[in-house]
Amino acid sequence: MRKPCRKCLLQEFDADGYREKILKELDWMDGEMRAPEEEYQRRLALCRDCEKLLEGSCLACGCYVELRAAAKAGHCPKKKW
Ligand code: SF4
Repeated sequence: MRKPCRKCLLQEFDADGYREKILKELDWMDGEMRAPEEEYQRRLALCRDCEKLLEGSCLACGCYVELRAAAKAGHCPKKKW
């Protein structure tokens, strides 16, 4: 499956398959690398209220926020977390 870029049209990628892949990557993330669950949820709550969130992606950096927030060393490009 090809990774969609910000210039992809919806018809050009399998959104459901990609969502599944992202969730699998979350499952595979090493425990040492993961942010504690409470911090992860705090970050996601801030993303939910952010004007840069669009369909799970951050418009400021193009990342999938659930992956970025899950990484202990992850940070928000707008310094919200
Ligand atoms: S990572 Fe930061 S800028 Fe991006 S959606 Fe989350 S809070 Fe907003």
